[in-house]
Amino acid sequence: MSSCARSSEEGSKRRWRLRTIGAALALVAVGGGLSAAPPPAVQDSAPAAAACRTKSVAITFDFEGASPARCVIHGEREFTLVITPEHGLPINPSPWYAFRYRAEPGEEPVIHLSYLGARHRYAPKWSDGKQSRELAVQTSEDGTRATFRLPAGWAIVSAQEIVDAGAYRRMIARWSRGRHGTRLILGRTLDRRPIEAVLLGRADAPRLVLLIGRQHPPEVTGAVAMEAFVDRIAGLLAADHKLADRYQFLVVPLLNPDGVALGHWRANRGGKDLNRDWGAFTQPETAAVRQWLDRRASAVHPVLMIDFHSTQRNLFYVQGEEAGAAGERFLASWLAGKEQALTGYPFTIERRDANPGGGTAKNWFYAAYGVPAYTYEVADTADREATRAAARTLAADLLGALDGAENSLGVQMTPRAARSTSPSLPIPSNSP
Ligand SMILES: [Zn+2]
Repeated sequence: MSSCARSSEEGSKRRWRLRTIGAALALVAVGGGLSAAPPPAVQDSAPAAAACRTKSVAITFDFEGASPARCVIHGEREFTLVITPEHGLPINPSPWYAFRYRAEPGEEPVIHLSYLGARHRYAPKWSDGKQSRELAVQTSEDGTRATFRLPAGWAIVSAQEIVDAGAYRRMIARWSRGRHGTRLILGRTLDRRPIEAVLLGRADAPRLVLLIGRQHPPEVTGAVAMEAFVDRIAGLLAADHKLADRYQFLVVPLLNPDGVALGHWRANRGGKDLNRDWGAFTQPETAAVRQWLDRRASAVHPVLMIDFHSTQRNLFYVQGEEAGAAGERFLASWLAGKEQALTGYPFTIERRDANPGGGTAKNWFYAAYGVPAYTYEVADTADREATRAAARTLAADLLGALDGAENSLGVQMTPRAARSTSPSLPIPSNSP
């Protein structure tokens, strides 16, 4: 019995070695996808990736958001997916994966994820379109491999829940339904996808708030927060016409539609991290927002920018010492003191001095307009309902905080004219 167990263990080790070799071979086979150059443009929206099929199990990557993983078959019901980034290393380690499967009844198929240049970060989310849940997963000691089993039937398994272009279309339709919502197309991506936005409030309202989302494709919890946040803002503006006369919101919930459709870890189709492109504006996505800002009426002034992301924990990156009195009042009124006050959503406030040439939306907006520009970071594992509830509360508190910062002590958050930014400084690759 014990020798049988031992030999099975040795067999298992051997299988692991074979798997590693198989994975390495698969990497050789897809080597072209790992070069620093961006991949060639494709006409269709589905990423090109090999499917894995045995008699009883099929694994496919045939939908928007599926990752370009390669698949290695070890047996009738055992597979390795090699999870690779969209461009060469280094890349921010947000190893996205997503696939569809169909399994005939029988023993639960085993999936190994083998990560290139990253460690396992996202627990697998299983969804059959009606129900969804997280699958139990085991990871190797060094975190470069993860293993889980698939329930029989069919489903999509992904690193985080799928929030794709269809979901954004529904959000945008909802937000632009009222009389104070206008759907806009700011531009087109390299793959010709529309860069969609909604303008909430009157287009001649003097105070402009910018809300940006999904620069980084895997950062779905930021998207969860943003949806609830914008729902509340849209509701407030619809209910109070005076608010809509004073404030307008440009909402760009999906700034990187190509990256989301292609299952990227970080970049757009051009192989660029969009949140390092503010200031240079070399990419159509960032340039489209800049162009819209440049064309706005001169009586319309930005007063705030919020950029939604995800990271290990809930936090807000805000201005450092340069915030100024009005910026400090806004921070104190909107966020300070609430770090432990939102049920199930503790957060911290991280002050970061501007690094204007670093290319983040936060720093560019601050440098260009001198108004609060925050990064709203939601933990990867944040409870989704608590995230939504916190976002609704923070949205409800926002306009009062803006009014207070502007009116109290007679000091205004005087917007400055856009100015050019200073040369690039290095910023850590794990920052937003
Ligand atoms: Zn991010």
